[in-house]
Amino acid sequence: MILMNDFRAEPPELRAAELHAVKRVLDSGWYVLGPEVQAFEQEWAAACGAGFAAGVGNGLDALSIGLRCLGIGPGDEVITTPMTAFATVLAVLQVGATPVLADIDPQTALLDPASAARCLTRRTRAVVPVHLYGRIGEMTRWQGFCRDASIALVEDCAQAHGARCNGKSAGTFGAFGAYSFYPTKNLGARGDAGALVTDNEALAQRAARLRNYGQSERYRHPEVGVNSRLDELQAALLRERLRWLDVFTERRRQVAKRMLAGIDNSQVQPMQAPQDGEQHVFHLFVVICDERDRLAEHLTRSGVQSLIHYPVPAHQQPPCVNLPRDPHGLGAAEQHARCCLSLPCHPYLADTEVDRIVEAINAFR
Ligand SMILES: *Cc1c(COP(=O)(O)O)cnc(C)c1O
Repeated sequence: MILMNDFRAEPPELRAAELHAVKRVLDSGWYVLGPEVQAFEQEWAAACGAGFAAGVGNGLDALSIGLRCLGIGPGDEVITTPMTAFATVLAVLQVGATPVLADIDPQTALLDPASAARCLTRRTRAVVPVHLYGRIGEMTRWQGFCRDASIALVEDCAQAHGARCNGKSAGTFGAFGAYSFYPTKNLGARGDAGALVTDNEALAQRAARLRNYGQSERYRHPEVGVNSRLDELQAALLRERLRWLDVFTERRRQVAKRMLAGIDNSQVQPMQAPQDGEQHVFHLFVVICDERDRLAEHLTRSGVQSLIHYPVPAHQQPPCVNLPRDPHGLGAAEQHARCCLSLPCHPYLADTEVDRIVEAINAFR
């Protein structure tokens, strides 16, 4: 079976470096929020070209802690997309604000600025574009949108490690960017981890307090925080894995290119890559097919795993059915949810495996 993610196929040099990092942490005698976390925060901020990074427990918390740092809470509205991991919408709900769901552009599956414009109200405080599947949109457009509306731009970068627009990394276009390092992400830890990146030092410092019980100095708690600390083991592992990120991203792009060149079946449309290759890091390689479920079964029989991102858009999840949304509806997101299918696109795929995926797709009738 060709898997969506195959961690056992990772390079032995990386595995050896990770074991060494684990030993380093165990020997250090310091396990939560220590020198490894600090070093990773600096290295990740530098990799993103951001001034600061604050490590947290996961991507959901990176979003919710960041939103709290912007003072967003009850009575406020945040516009985002229903075609995303549920965490994006959940973060807004967690801070007590109201998610307002705007539709996607069917070509890219990214948040559609025209739809987002229809969702603006007096209460709108922020918009959260999601760099879905690893693709970053035209960020100058979102910067202008937010400037005109006097609202904050927040990026959900959980799928877009290393993606760039006009030479700038995901997460650096607005107030902050939220990253997840869940194991399957392009930069993944060996458990849960996340970070937010920002150029705003005060925001980074407040996030670092909120993640640790709202503690300003030892045993002083000026505000109500959470426990969302990053541990030393995950940070040390992330530091080793970060060294490989560019190589892995390049391989994902090669795999995607080979699939785009090879897929030739009028019933299966791959989502097209952006003109500027830097804007896509292929966290997922997605095709559109009217008979999506039958295609998935055909692939399983051909020895190719596939997954659906995402089968149920956020507005159809029980906690969200009454959320406000674009008055024109969310038809593009609903259509996408019915037809999208993600194929294996991880960096350890051999060309022969990519060709087997392509052959399986092309044999579908
Ligand atoms: C994974 C993911 C998240 C949440 O990250 P966790 O670390 O799982 O909390 C948020 N948004 C998107 C788009 C994701 O893919």
